[in-house]
Amino acid sequence: MAYLGLHALQHRGQESAGIVAANTRGMTQERDMGLVADIFTEDRLARLKGRHAIGHTRYSTAGSSQLINAQPFLIDCHRGKMAVAHNGNLLNAAALRLELERQGSIFSTSSDSEVILHLVARSSARTLEGALVDALSRVEGAYSLVFLMRDRLIAVRDPHGFRPLSLGKLDGAMVVASETCAFDLIGARFVRDVAPGEFLIIDSSGLRSEQPFPPQPTRQCIFEHVYFSRPDSMVFGRSVNQVRRKMGVALAREHPVPADIVVPVPDSGLVAALGFAGESGIPFEFGLVRNHYVGRTFIEPKQEIRHFGVKLKLNAVATLIKGKRVILVDDSIVRGTTSRKIVTMVRDLGAREVHMRISSPPTTGPCYYGVDTPKRDDLIASAHSVEEIRAFIRADSLEYLSLEGLRQAVDDRDTFCAACFDDNYPIAVNQRAGTQANLFDIPR
Ligand code: 5GP
Ligand code: SF4
Ligand code: MG
Repeated sequence: MAYLGLHALQHRGQESAGIVAANTRGMTQERDMGLVADIFTEDRLARLKGRHAIGHTRYSTAGSSQLINAQPFLIDCHRGKMAVAHNGNLLNAAALRLELERQGSIFSTSSDSEVILHLVARSSARTLEGALVDALSRVEGAYSLVFLMRDRLIAVRDPHGFRPLSLGKLDGAMVVASETCAFDLIGARFVRDVAPGEFLIIDSSGLRSEQPFPPQPTRQCIFEHVYFSRPDSMVFGRSVNQVRRKMGVALAREHPVPADIVVPVPDSGLVAALGFAGESGIPFEFGLVRNHYVGRTFIEPKQEIRHFGVKLKLNAVATLIKGKRVILVDDSIVRGTTSRKIVTMVRDLGAREVHMRISSPPTTGPCYYGVDTPKRDDLIASAHSVEEIRAFIRADSLEYLSLEGLRQAVDDRDTFCAACFDDNYPIAVNQRAGTQANLFDIPR
């Protein structure tokens, strides 16, 4: 079941994947670099013995992409064997690590998540649950976590609730997953979200829920709805598909333009483009085709042939494009380089006009809470106006959905983080200390 669930969550991380299984006798771990389908051979699945399990697909926000950082982590401490899988990004991990190392801790990964395990092992709390609460009370940042012990599973969401985590039920068993699409795959029923700050203990006696942390304003990641989550999931109590559709409708109302066809940039622009086409009355066409067999692991070849890169992933349908006024709909612009290549490709096929419409506001700041956006300098919208970005991507016009429009589409009742769009960071970030990728890989 964990293996199947990971297939449904593959879009959340493609660098590495792993599963830890447990029963009262012990715990077994299988993990590797790469995709779920490639890692878990029949042999490896057979080696995972147990009655319950946790799994993880990783893409890194802190710590480099290598096997030692592949989760779930499995450790053996005086409290017994324990495994953890983390979705999020810890803001004070570097400081905590330094402190722990000075006290004698020996770290074996370069991941922020390992800090939690050291804090648990060192806690003087009487119970294991107490030690977990103790440890988590010291970390700041974004975390949706599952811990596995021989006889129980513990699921925790940080007090702001940055990252999603949902609870489901399958026959008599409880299931937790980052997205409900994993429940659909294994035939589990979605029960509810794990609440921000909730500490859930699942064992043979059932389910226990605690709220051990001081409450914080809820700050769910709005970008999950813009880009990250799958449209067949319910995230933060909302259908991702419905929200994206509304974003497209709002975008068409805010920024109409006369044109012949609406073309989504697949896959991230699909649902918003449907909303845009419906609202504007301009025909929807699959004018760009995506190759689904090129993963993110694709290594860009030498500079001279680098422009093949985008064609490897996306190609335009010449007969649809030629002579047309085209509206391209995508979810976001990060560096602007892909958008520039796509607009150029569509122009080269004879489009009369190319209008770019983006179903979120300009991405002006990096994320410190678990989405791997590049640093501020690499975000084109951090230092360039919409007109400058339009010129760079060579579009005839470029318009973004307003923040107001985005908040309305997700029905935000002051429960969302939108910091990468509005610079309103819910947890202060020490920019100089750095919190992003490879923090721990700097030679010291
Ligand atoms: P750009 O034009 O900025 O080079 O690329 C824009 C594209 O990047 C959009 O299609 C958007 O869906 C995609 N994108 C936005 N955020 C992320 C992310 O975190 N990871 C990846 N792989 N793509 C992203
Ligand atoms: Fe999500 Fe952006 Fe907030 Fe990060 S900064 S949690 S991507 S809304
Ligand atoms: Mg995209």
